[in-house]
Amino acid sequence: MNEHDSERIRGVLEENDWLPTDDPEAADLLIFNTCSVRESAVNRLLGRLGEARRLKNERPERLVALAGCFAQSRQADIFHDLPFLDIAFGPRNIGELPALIEGARSGSVPASSFTDNNMLSGGLPTRRGDDYRAWVQVMTGCTNCCSYCVVPGVRGPERSRPVSDIVEETRRLVDDGVVEVTLLGQNVNSFGLDLDTAGGKRQSFAALLEMLDSINGLRRIRFTTSHPRDLGPDLIEAIRDLPAVCEHLHLPVQSGSDHILGRMNRGYSREHYLELVGLINKEVPDISLTTDIIIGFPGEKEEDFFRTITLVGECRFDGAFTFVYSARAGTEAALFPGLIPEVTIKRRMHELVSLTQQIALAKNQALAGSEVEVLIEGPSRQGGSQWRGRTRQNKIVNFTTPGRGSAPATGSFTLVTIDSATSTTLKGHQSA
Ligand code: SAH
Ligand code: SF4
Repeated sequence: MNEHDSERIRGVLEENDWLPTDDPEAADLLIFNTCSVRESAVNRLLGRLGEARRLKNERPERLVALAGCFAQSRQADIFHDLPFLDIAFGPRNIGELPALIEGARSGSVPASSFTDNNMLSGGLPTRRGDDYRAWVQVMTGCTNCCSYCVVPGVRGPERSRPVSDIVEETRRLVDDGVVEVTLLGQNVNSFGLDLDTAGGKRQSFAALLEMLDSINGLRRIRFTTSHPRDLGPDLIEAIRDLPAVCEHLHLPVQSGSDHILGRMNRGYSREHYLELVGLINKEVPDISLTTDIIIGFPGEKEEDFFRTITLVGECRFDGAFTFVYSARAGTEAALFPGLIPEVTIKRRMHELVSLTQQIALAKNQALAGSEVEVLIEGPSRQGGSQWRGRTRQNKIVNFTTPGRGSAPATGSFTLVTIDSATSTTLKGHQSA
């Protein structure tokens, strides 16, 4: 979501005749697009701001701007804490950036905007990173109340983008050469619930997928994130039946213990999650399932952690993002007692990561000998005349070509036979 916001910041600026540079020394405007979901992101930002302060002192007419959810969470205090800043704005105020720049240039006080102007940023100009794939925002904000999470506070309540806008943007992207879109929302499964249903049209996420699937030339549709409480059978059927919808589901579980899920306010039980996983595996046998897990949530006892471990063993995830719980100011959980000692967190994390890697490795190795469709992303980072691409299941594949003819084109599709695997990547050769 943040990367896509950065594409919009860049799109808005380019539309106003600003040009990007990779050299901070040469920049007239430095923008940091920030995240505050976990403390580690904030710490990284604070490290980088030292450089921004130096550059500002060196050339005071240079503007320094802070965007995103960290800026939003601090609002006006940010100028007190970081006096070298000229501009600060929240994730809902990207469209106001040209006016903020004007304001900062002409006024003697810093310019900021954090108001919820009810605008959906989905329609703003975007400067994409790739020609062949794109993100499409289907909703903003989040109305859930997960007790650990800053997102609803900094991005505001959930709002769906009108279906016609999403379809139109996707059509334009496909006309422009895009073959894969990733639909973005904090909880795509509740898409459309806030939309006006006048005319009796279905506005569910599954219905949206069906409409996008019918766009000629769109080969792959991905989406993130699904919430286990709101995932219904219609979405599973959409993944099963719609040719462009990829066989990958990111379904954050956060914990395998009902006690912790309750304290997290996630709104589902371990049993419900396991049922969903059973259903999706039955309906879409080649599904790749990934998840997010938080370790060290306040009050997480050894038995709670054990429940997470056994759930991971049962679900056999293809991949898992594992996070150490990070207390965030203003969230409910920040006030919870029962902080977990660091040494316990480290041990639990180590155990969890070894298990998730072991399972991912076994699942990837089981693909050896199979042939997969790969969307080519360019030369492999591993060099050695290898290429890199992704399967429909979102697995990274490094592959060799027979060496004759021209190099495979980025953004095109090819078939690859898998020879071997690690827990995170597959290795293969282009099929004859
Ligand atoms: N809306 C998405 C995810 C948003 S944040 C969802 O609900 O799935 C991405 C992930 O960051 C979350 O799934 C969670 O695992 C993690 N996360 C969020 N807040 C956190 C916190 N305070 N500490 C540690 N991890 C956190
Ligand atoms: Fe945060 Fe929960 Fe909303 Fe995800 S669903 S953004 S974790 S509040």
